[in-house]
Amino acid sequence: MSFFFVIPEGNLLFVTPTESLALAAASLSATAAATLAYAALSPGSQLFGRTLIAGGDANEAALTYDDGPNDAVTESLLDTLAAHNARATFFVIGRYARQRPELVRRIRAAGHLIGNHTETHPWLAWQSARTIHEELRACNQAIEDALGEPVRYFRPPHGARRPAVFRAAAELGLTTVQWNVMGMDWQPIGTDRILSHIDRGLTRARSRGTGANILLHDGSQHGLGADRTATVASTAALLVRFAADGTRTVTVDAWG
Ligand SMILES: [Zn+2]
Repeated sequence: MSFFFVIPEGNLLFVTPTESLALAAASLSATAAATLAYAALSPGSQLFGRTLIAGGDANEAALTYDDGPNDAVTESLLDTLAAHNARATFFVIGRYARQRPELVRRIRAAGHLIGNHTETHPWLAWQSARTIHEELRACNQAIEDALGEPVRYFRPPHGARRPAVFRAAAELGLTTVQWNVMGMDWQPIGTDRILSHIDRGLTRARSRGTGANILLHDGSQHGLGADRTATVASTAALLVRFAADGTRTVTVDAWG
């Protein structure tokens, strides 16, 4: 018996009772293992702690970009967002923010919200409480050194978390943010397929009467310089559509 989840920045993660020992104690039943995997990995799960996903206005959408800052891609994205007078949320990796503080300042100066996506992008559900705290603290420090203002929002890499993640976030004054729409753009699938994934997610969010928290990537956990041209093109197409259908873009703090 096994279960799977679509994990951002990875492939499908198959979880079997034996493989999920890292999630918790040994000797779990299949049902308990599935519940723990859901709590740790499902973006919508609230079992290990409350996460911010979206507000109750189906006409609102938050464009969120993870794994930057990423040089030319982030700059191109800033131009695209500015052309449509749209605000977005950037969950940056601390070690990149440390290398590109000017770009972090440019994002903020353009009116966007910047959040914490850890220092080195590990799977937090697998880490010790001390490592989790240090990953969040160091990324906060990198952003605060660049901006001179506190960080309030945090998105766990791959969406993975466990109770120690929420404890560390709370100690650092961070609200944990997930998503409810995925572009699957960590894979090289091209603009059309990114948009069709987003369309499905938008339809689902609207049918539930909630805003859309759209997960996209301007960078990569594997290093600076990743090509995210398709993400920028998808953003431009979405913003044209939002202008036509009356969807308002917001940053996630509108829901926090
Ligand atoms: Zn990430």
